[in-house]
Amino acid sequence: MSTSHNQLKEYRNKRDFRRTAEPSGDGRDKPGDKPVFVVQKHAASRLHYDVRLEVDGVLKSWAVPKGPSMDPKDKRLAVMTEDHPMDYADFEGTIPDDQYGGGAVIVWDTGTYDNMKELEAGDAGSALSMQEALDAGEVTVRLNGKKLTGGFALIHSKMGGNPKNWLLMKMKDDQAAAGSDVVNKNPTSVLSGRDINDLL
Ligand code: MN
Repeated sequence: MSTSHNQLKEYRNKRDFRRTAEPSGDGRDKPGDKPVFVVQKHAASRLHYDVRLEVDGVLKSWAVPKGPSMDPKDKRLAVMTEDHPMDYADFEGTIPDDQYGGGAVIVWDTGTYDNMKELEAGDAGSALSMQEALDAGEVTVRLNGKKLTGGFALIHSKMGGNPKNWLLMKMKDDQAAAGSDVVNKNPTSVLSGRDINDLL
């Protein structure tokens, strides 16, 4: 049994795979040259965006009510959720209403990412793996997506005393765009071109 199998226990416990078309995570992992990220738009009881980063064979996940922004001034609440299986990264569809997270899901953006804590470490000794950066509560990644590009930070703010609360923000770089409204200007799936309303 792999490490990722144990990490997916909470994910599996929440779902009945006879009822939902979501992947159980029993399929193959897909090792690539670079780790992947995905942002899914999820019309559950409350619309939100799920930001996921591949780390050690699973998708580390945060629910972001307002979605990501390309404006460094925006600090978006990102609530950490259970690890998801790798094959969730291209899941689009409708989860039955009586199931956990019932509602439509589209892949709003996806691509690869670079761990900036590894890439831009000043000296060899200061490099952090993604797991080390997560443990330290400060993740910085360069996203290579179709909509999201450049540096993003996830900071473990624990706002309101909730240990699941992080903040997602765009870092200042050439890709940053003040005042941009990337989630509403570019609403459709990068995989299928569908709008989430097409699945409702
Ligand atoms: Mn969700």
